[in-house]
Amino acid sequence: MKIASVIVDVPTKQTDKTFDYLIPDQWIDTIQPGMRVVVPFGPRKIQGFVTGIKIHSEFQKLREIVEPMDLEPVLNHELLELGNWLTEKTLCFKIFAFQVMLPAALKAKYEKSVELANGVKTSDLPGQLQTFFKSNSKINWEEALKSGIVPLLQREASKGHLEVLYEVKEKMKKKQLKFVSPLLSITELQDELDRLPARAEKQKEVLNFFVQNYKPVELRQLLVDLSISSATVKALVEKNFLIEQDREVYRDPYENRTFERTSPLPLTDSQQKAIQPILNSIEQKQHEVFLLYGVTGSGKTEVYLQSIREVIEKGQEAIVLVPEIALTPQMVNRFKGRFGDLVAVLHSGLSSGEKYDEWRKIQRKEVKVVVGARSAIFAPFENLGIIIIDEEHETSYKQEEMPRYHARDVAIERAKTYNCPVVLGSATPSLESFARAQKKVYQLLSLPSRMNNQSLPSVEIIDMREELRSGNRSMFSSKLFDMLKERIERKEQSVLFLNKRGHSSFVMCRDCGYVVNCPNCDISLTFHSKAGQMKCHYCGYESFVPKHCPECSSEYIRYFGTGTQKVEEELGKILPEARVIRMDVDTTGRKGAHERLLKDFQDGKADILLGTQMIAKGLDFPNITLVGVLSADTMLHLPDFRSSEKTFQLLTQVSGRAGRHELPGEVIIQTYTPEHYSVELAGTQDYDLFYSKEMMVRKSHHYPPFYYLSLITVSHEQLMAAVATTEKITAYIRSRVSDETVVLGPAASPIPRINNRYRYQCLIKYKREPDLPMTLKTILDQYQKDTASGLQVSIDINPFILM
Ligand code: ADP
Ligand code: ZN
Ligand code: ZN
Repeated sequence: MKIASVIVDVPTKQTDKTFDYLIPDQWIDTIQPGMRVVVPFGPRKIQGFVTGIKIHSEFQKLREIVEPMDLEPVLNHELLELGNWLTEKTLCFKIFAFQVMLPAALKAKYEKSVELANGVKTSDLPGQLQTFFKSNSKINWEEALKSGIVPLLQREASKGHLEVLYEVKEKMKKKQLKFVSPLLSITELQDELDRLPARAEKQKEVLNFFVQNYKPVELRQLLVDLSISSATVKALVEKNFLIEQDREVYRDPYENRTFERTSPLPLTDSQQKAIQPILNSIEQKQHEVFLLYGVTGSGKTEVYLQSIREVIEKGQEAIVLVPEIALTPQMVNRFKGRFGDLVAVLHSGLSSGEKYDEWRKIQRKEVKVVVGARSAIFAPFENLGIIIIDEEHETSYKQEEMPRYHARDVAIERAKTYNCPVVLGSATPSLESFARAQKKVYQLLSLPSRMNNQSLPSVEIIDMREELRSGNRSMFSSKLFDMLKERIERKEQSVLFLNKRGHSSFVMCRDCGYVVNCPNCDISLTFHSKAGQMKCHYCGYESFVPKHCPECSSEYIRYFGTGTQKVEEELGKILPEARVIRMDVDTTGRKGAHERLLKDFQDGKADILLGTQMIAKGLDFPNITLVGVLSADTMLHLPDFRSSEKTFQLLTQVSGRAGRHELPGEVIIQTYTPEHYSVELAGTQDYDLFYSKEMMVRKSHHYPPFYYLSLITVSHEQLMAAVATTEKITAYIRSRVSDETVVLGPAASPIPRINNRYRYQCLIKYKREPDLPMTLKTILDQYQKDTASGLQVSIDINPFILM
């Protein structure tokens, strides 16, 4: 007798543990840990993951597994362990930890149907229902809904005549194509060809084709190429000359593209110096985390490529993470160009079928490299030799829903298991990573200059307050306007960048740039148009918007923000001759739109590329000689302690888009706060100075990397319930932490109501609290069990968004 421990697909506290099931005899040799199975659970049949096999169970009367859903495990031993680790580190349900590691296509979909109960005959049912059950003992729930018989069904179900069934449906489908192959040898084909009557012209043509191309051919392709009908092929199949077979094929998103093969470039001295420690780590199988710090265009990607080559030569595998928006065709080209078919690509632009196929290539070891966004960190390789995270400072590496993991942490955890290096690359490393490099937790590798010593573009900061004073109310400074005009005349291209995050949410004086901050937290207040008030989302402070600027008494004090559409309109007025491509969430919604717009710009179909965050990365076109940032400040005043860091990173990134080739580049940054260090230092592109300034700010305000954060968010339909519970939790935490720890709250969440639920939060800042994970788990356990109260409590350890 064998018993399987199974984690079932029911994300609740009560079911967040393994359940024991008997393995039926016929599956005893089949079912293994890491497989998905269908199990009975109450009246339903649901999906589960087998986590272990054993001989004894402490429970009597076990139910049997219905059937396996996989032929081989979808989670190997390492990933099952990683699932446990994720569960513990992020305090999530185990089922979420397993699901996040797999492509969405493997997530179960359930279908509901109604069936005659045991021993019940069709004639026992009311007449109206009999017709439905006449030809079928089971009817689909969707159909029942459409036919309006649900109340009837319910009545019969309550009498015990009918039973409701829940069944697991596979969502993923393998793509099958019909292939035709010769059944005879070439000489036999030749003989038959001679024997066919002359009028069987088409059939002759087909046989002739196979004599010339003796291999399986896709049927559809054959029909098109020879312009024949399927009847012709069928005739030959019936004569047993040919055979038709279904074959599984991959949905390849890059099918119709050819990638020019590239070879490793001879490394420069500084690249050589940077790569050596990585190669040593690969060679000696010694886990180490490297921070590869180098400006854009300094040759980081070439270092990645050559490290990966080493790994592949040793028979090992590589994971490369790239932020979603930087996963551009250009980036994919570089990896496919170097390693060809050994590369799988995973990003959100793929259909779920395509993603599933790419995933299977990894699982079947048909590829050696995966390039992908965050979740590619779970690629089911079993012999990892390196993990690379490009643009490691990007906040999109943190998942904002359960499991709330950071890809960097997962990378390090996996790399420890495989004794392999992790390489974090960035021109503007996150403060956390740079601080760790300073403390020698990570090993710092630098690429101090651009290839061929190309100079960085010159950056000019324009004070928009001055513009206003001299009567320019437009969103373009006169300098930027002149330069745009000049570029159009010279047939060069410009990029205009609008920092849209933080739209309309802070209050600023347009005369002097004063921004209203919280007196307790040194963070800007958020404007709430409904109440006409400003609030602090960290401590709860609130006040009205002043009528006059407290600094300069100007009445031009208001909340702030402009949209890309508005900018486009204004461009149309002031520079009607300019051809503009706008790239934002609205214009790139459809599949492939992003790529097409960029291609158009590259082909010179526009003079100006106007966009938001999404154009900050990866753009590398020779003809771009001007980058304009319309409003550098918008993000600076978000209620987020990382806002200075993000502003600096973004401005530096955007500036890096200009002058990457022969033509020199210029950058204009328009701002209302030119004196802010993150704007000023982005102007001189001085990361080191920015780092030391920002570190002082973080230290004095008890923020990372000096302190760790944990955020508890409580929500309830009743405001008072949310407040009272948050109060209770906050008090409980205060009683269990050291004096050095700061516990802020209860305060309303920056988004105080979502879906009619009020949200309150408690923020914990701490240096060393070994017992805090346990305390947090206790809190979660208690509230997750108590589902009747309607309270939802969520905990984010190392949060990136404090909303
Ligand atoms: P990063 O990833 O730091 O932005 P890249 O690796 O993209 O830098 O390098 C910038 C440019 O320099 C690319 O066009 C790349 O092909 C080229 N390059 C990189 N390394 C070398 C090298 N060793 N010799 C010549 N060109 C190189
Ligand atoms: Zn003012
Ligand atoms: Zn405050």
